[in-house]
Amino acid sequence: MEKAPRPIRSELKSHRIVQEEEKPIRWSYMKILREHSDLKEFYPEIDPYAEAYRMRDNMWAIYTESLDGAGDPWMYLINGPERAMLIDTSFGLGNLKGLVNYLTGNKELIVVNTHAHPDHSMGNGQFERIFCNEYEVPFLQKKNDPHIWDSLFNENRQPLYTEFDPADLIDFHPFEIKGVPDGYRFDLGQGYEVELVHLPGHSAGMSGFIDHYNRILFSGDLTGILNKPADTPYWRLHTVEALRDGLRKLVPRLDHIEGVFPGHGMLDQSPVVIEYLLEATEAVIKDPENYDRIRTTMRRGTPRASCVKYIYQGSALRYSPDNVYYSQDPNITANTEEK
Ligand SMILES: [Zn+2]
Repeated sequence: MEKAPRPIRSELKSHRIVQEEEKPIRWSYMKILREHSDLKEFYPEIDPYAEAYRMRDNMWAIYTESLDGAGDPWMYLINGPERAMLIDTSFGLGNLKGLVNYLTGNKELIVVNTHAHPDHSMGNGQFERIFCNEYEVPFLQKKNDPHIWDSLFNENRQPLYTEFDPADLIDFHPFEIKGVPDGYRFDLGQGYEVELVHLPGHSAGMSGFIDHYNRILFSGDLTGILNKPADTPYWRLHTVEALRDGLRKLVPRLDHIEGVFPGHGMLDQSPVVIEYLLEATEAVIKDPENYDRIRTTMRRGTPRASCVKYIYQGSALRYSPDNVYYSQDPNITANTEEK
């Protein structure tokens, strides 16, 4: 029986109703960071749902609580010489745009998504144009929908997973989507470049971003290779093999990187975590049956099972056995729940 997690003191206007289990290392990190660190900047009069943590002179990690019962996501804001860049937009609760404008002094803003999952993209409607990798475009297009928030509520319009004031959700506005290729460089002015690095697997267009000035990799979500039906666009890019290929291209460049900032979890990790993740993908590809355990999670009322391969010094690579090989016939989908 898992113990209820120790609460983390917070002044946020949101309160989680459904809490994941306490992750023994990550939880301690988050508790100390959020309760005691002086990196935290909280401006409740602008956005009572977000905490900004200044991680570099010109870069903040922005924390919000998850609204769908899963892990709390990180967004990142880079204040470049002439332009700023926001990486991901969380759930679209509160005045994120106001917070970003305040932190950057109303600088021109480039908004990018690592991928289209709700915890990274439902706030896109606050902005006119969103950049993402070209393979993520069809998934992001689905977020151009005024009903994206419906699944957060029960039939009485009460939040299911996290308490918040529904009036604080942003108004829906369609946004323009611009797909760009692997290696695309965004110009924040005066030679300050941020490069998109395609790291598929978790989703087809999942991409990290390298801030070449700070020598940082914003790595997005890498460790969950979810079961995808065979008719999913770019099915081959939702596999452990696709992730391995992306990591293999990235590893020789890690000498240039000083810190890794993921979409969830602990900040400013050593770049060696990317090598350890690559090792886990290679072990799974060698023998998909050689997992450490099976994990069943409840997602929106239905149980979902996945294989779990531990990552050295890290968390775990979760994968569906049907999504290991991109050479596998995508028309064959076994039922992972039976394993
Ligand atoms: Zn994700």
